[in-house]
Amino acid sequence: SLSIGIVGLPNVGKSTLFTALTNKGGLAANYPFATIEPNVGVVPVPDARLDALAAIDHPARIVPATVEFVDIAGLVAGASQGEGLGNQFLANIRETDAICEVVRFFGDPDVVHVAGRVDPQSDVETIKTELVLADMATVEKAIPRLEKEAKRDKAGAAKLAAAKKALEGLNEGHRARTLDLTDEEREALYDLHLLTMKPMLYIANVDEDQLDADLPEIDGCQPVPISAKVEADLAELDPAEAKEYLEAMGLAESGLARLVREAYKLLGLQSYFTSGETETRAWTIPIGAKAPQAAGVIHTDFERGFIKAETAAYTDYVELGGEAGCRAAGKLRQEGKDYVVQDGDVMHFKFNV
Ligand code: GDP
Repeated sequence: SLSIGIVGLPNVGKSTLFTALTNKGGLAANYPFATIEPNVGVVPVPDARLDALAAIDHPARIVPATVEFVDIAGLVAGASQGEGLGNQFLANIRETDAICEVVRFFGDPDVVHVAGRVDPQSDVETIKTELVLADMATVEKAIPRLEKEAKRDKAGAAKLAAAKKALEGLNEGHRARTLDLTDEEREALYDLHLLTMKPMLYIANVDEDQLDADLPEIDGCQPVPISAKVEADLAELDPAEAKEYLEAMGLAESGLARLVREAYKLLGLQSYFTSGETETRAWTIPIGAKAPQAAGVIHTDFERGFIKAETAAYTDYVELGGEAGCRAAGKLRQEGKDYVVQDGDVMHFKFNV
């Protein structure tokens, strides 16, 4: 599943948010969540379309797509003390698809701010420096190994050259992602799993009454306003109560839903569905993925043996009461290997084993 690392200065609300997101109380009740490690939480992606599909097909179970949140809270302390990152840390961060930085916007004078005042732009600079320093340490540590690899073959030499170029840019305080690198150089750096190479999303942890306020851009991006406090309250409620609470606050959706939507947008992801009496399920694929690639998310055999996909648009499926209705109305399409899957498609794959 999609994996997001959470970073930020101390006392900005990371733990509060992480705990709220990963202990969704009643909201998570019908999904078996693995608690992998204390700092990793797997969260269902809220998607009302699943319920609409389930109301038609009455499946034995509903399986939402999932997002994995990794709390990388230790990053700052470790990095600023010059200790670098522990192996366990690196293992956790390595596989994340994106990094999400929690930035304090809430005022509460009872909560001490490490820098003495609420200053989002300056906090972001501080974290950026820490992430860049962590990456410099990673590259510097790798260079002796890469020097050996460079003597062995051309690929090794390319890796070393890319690492040196990246180190130069990091040294000047730039994120690896913003450096002027060729595709080959990016590829050569892949194994280093640099933190600043990952796409970045900012969460503004705002006061409750600021949830729909216009926020200033951070580092050229629009931050996603979330109240960790509201999320913590929501996590305590059953689904019906949570809905009421959101309505009372004038909110259309939870912060988790907003965050996941923004992350999908940032990473160019979308969902398609499979639905029947066994299960109604959401699958995550890149925008632009073709039918065989979408099938491959379910099982690699589905991709290899792909024949065709019976496909209905989500709105048709719901309006026409499911697969039979779509078939009768001529809305169940037979799509081949070049079909570009659309967000919300309800699909049924035919494949050779
Ligand atoms: P972390 O160090 O970034 O993990 O921060 P914590 O989640 O431990 O939060 C630090 C303090 O800020 C705690 O006392 C929280 O209760 C408080 N806090 C977190 N989020 C909010 C919020 O949205 N509003 C307010 N007023 N306080 C918050």
